[in-house]
Amino acid sequence: MTDWDEYGFETRAVRAGQVRTLEGEQSEAIFATSSFTFDTAAQAAARFSGQESGNIYSRFTNPTVRTFEERLAALEGGERCVATGSGMSAILSTCMGLLKSGDHIVASTALFGSTVSLFENYLKKFGIGISYVPLTDLTAWQEAIRPETRLLFLETPSNPLTEVADVEALAALAHASECRLVVDNCFCTPALQRPLEMGADIVIHSATKYIDGQGRCIGGAVVGSDELMEPVFGFLRTAGPTMSPFNAWVFLKGLETLSLRMKAHSENALLLARWLAKQPAVARVHYPGLVDHPQHALAARQQKAFGGIVAFEVAGGREAAWRIIDSTRMLSITANLGDTKTTITHPATTTHGRLSAEQRESAGINEDLIRISVGLEDVTDIQADLARGLETARG
Ligand SMILES: *Cc1c(COP(=O)(O)O)cnc(C)c1O
Repeated sequence: MTDWDEYGFETRAVRAGQVRTLEGEQSEAIFATSSFTFDTAAQAAARFSGQESGNIYSRFTNPTVRTFEERLAALEGGERCVATGSGMSAILSTCMGLLKSGDHIVASTALFGSTVSLFENYLKKFGIGISYVPLTDLTAWQEAIRPETRLLFLETPSNPLTEVADVEALAALAHASECRLVVDNCFCTPALQRPLEMGADIVIHSATKYIDGQGRCIGGAVVGSDELMEPVFGFLRTAGPTMSPFNAWVFLKGLETLSLRMKAHSENALLLARWLAKQPAVARVHYPGLVDHPQHALAARQQKAFGGIVAFEVAGGREAAWRIIDSTRMLSITANLGDTKTTITHPATTTHGRLSAEQRESAGINEDLIRISVGLEDVTDIQADLARGLETARG
């Protein structure tokens, strides 16, 4: 990976990790094989014992998956990447690899809904404690850290309210207490934000979102130092929440256009956010690119652009929100995000529907909130599709 340090981001996105076979293929090969053969029994023994590196079995060694891992590690500036079958299994593998019963996590209240369910319904069952603090309140983070705290866990910008965390400050805080900072970098991707360069220890991805970018495959990844990734890999090797070679190939193709897409998503999202802010039926717009966003200056410093996710609140509660969603003809009503196609969702009853009313309230996810993952269509068409419902909401 050090080889790639001297190349620019876009070059790494297109080329890092590729190893051509003797066929001389231009596009990376898909190794659709569950196991690999050995020349001799002695070679098999050497591979299994770890004396010789090489492929063994696709639960934990596959060349297409490895190419994806090396490319994403090169983009995030991390020593090693472990690819997983989903974003959720990336989070699970991180926790299983690095934590034990009695350990404690401090997490932001503004987390992806399934992450909270994973912590509350499963990690707690095995004796791991979790405390939640407001993402942007440094004092609250500091005060929540206990002697047994091992991880600080956050997303920035957060889903769906796009709050922005000060990664450098939180990394310093984590390290002062011998904790590791984990950043779910799903919303920005390394094209817009590189948490490891700001001091974070681990980056988590749902590759399902912008890394694929076209809504096709489920996948995830964890990136960090060799030391931290070894136990994460150990869990993956044993438990098998593995990325499929086909999905790895789709994500490789996604990485090749990631930078261009993130720029275009961000441009469209900024135009849409500014337009929404002017609509009479819209009570509030959440987008880090708006100058009145509470962490606008921090986002401008920390990110290369403001990303593709815009959330807004409408007058009239759930009824009005659902009416706006149902009045669209082009936008896709789906909970997924990070797609070339614009998606619209009602977080309180979908992505965050499994949370209790109190959890939702403390996360600020109200019934009047709509989340848009701004795609790559003409922004005027996205606006026209929303205008129909916004007009009925007003009248
Ligand atoms: C979607 C998402 C996840 C979970 O990823 P899956 O690939 O759906 O398992 C985790 N974090 C964030 C911020 C997400 O948006």
